Amino acid sequence: MSASVTRLHLASRNAKKIGEMERIIAAHLPGVEIVGLDGVAAYDEPVEDEPTFAGNALLKARAGVAATGLATVADDSGLCVDALNGMPGVLSARWAGPPKDDARNNELLLAQLADVPDVRRGAHFVCAVAVVTPDGRELVVEGRMDGTILREVRGEGGFGYDVLFVTDERPGLTTAELSRDDKDAISHRGHALRDLAPQLADFLAR
Ligand code: IMP
Repeated sequence: MSASVTRLHLASRNAKKIGEMERIIAAHLPGVEIVGLDGVAAYDEPVEDEPTFAGNALLKARAGVAATGLATVADDSGLCVDALNGMPGVLSARWAGPPKDDARNNELLLAQLADVPDVRRGAHFVCAVAVVTPDGRELVVEGRMDGTILREVRGEGGFGYDVLFVTDERPGLTTAELSRDDKDAISHRGHALRDLAPQLADFLAR
């Protein structure tokens, strides 16, 4: 780890997402202070208009570096549903239209899949995490979690589409019914961050 990198900016306002990211990054980069968007001076965040998760993550990380001068981590994630040709994908957060509302998104997903039989309700989450340094170096990793979409919401934890998603790794439970640590251990974000973490120390030290 470069002695100069003591603060890493995490360009996100989603408290649950920041929590997941902080726990994993902190475990691999002790001593590095992580500041979220609320810990830096406000800046205009970019419109996420790239067609890929990686493209949007890079867009957010580059904007974070430009505004703060700090090495910045940003993620972009979403749900890709097989029967919907990968939708909502990069549109996951605001699929049912603005303002962003998880309950409306889940209602729309249930409606779109109403006639889809159980064997065709496969889906996966993707998370791309990008890191950009003030000297312009860029690193992107992706993680994935496979599963199926239920017919009714279940569970109190997590966020977004978790109440409708059962991962292949924990059959019988929605990801909203998993403990925080259990979800971290198998989630798309967990996979991406654990992949990233060992590379990050090297990457920042270069
Ligand atoms: P982002 O903030 O642009 O990455 O949008 C991510 C959106 O994808 C969220 O608002 C959720 O709708 C969905 N999403 C991403 N990760 C998860 C997850 O772990 N559980 C449930 N929904 C998720």
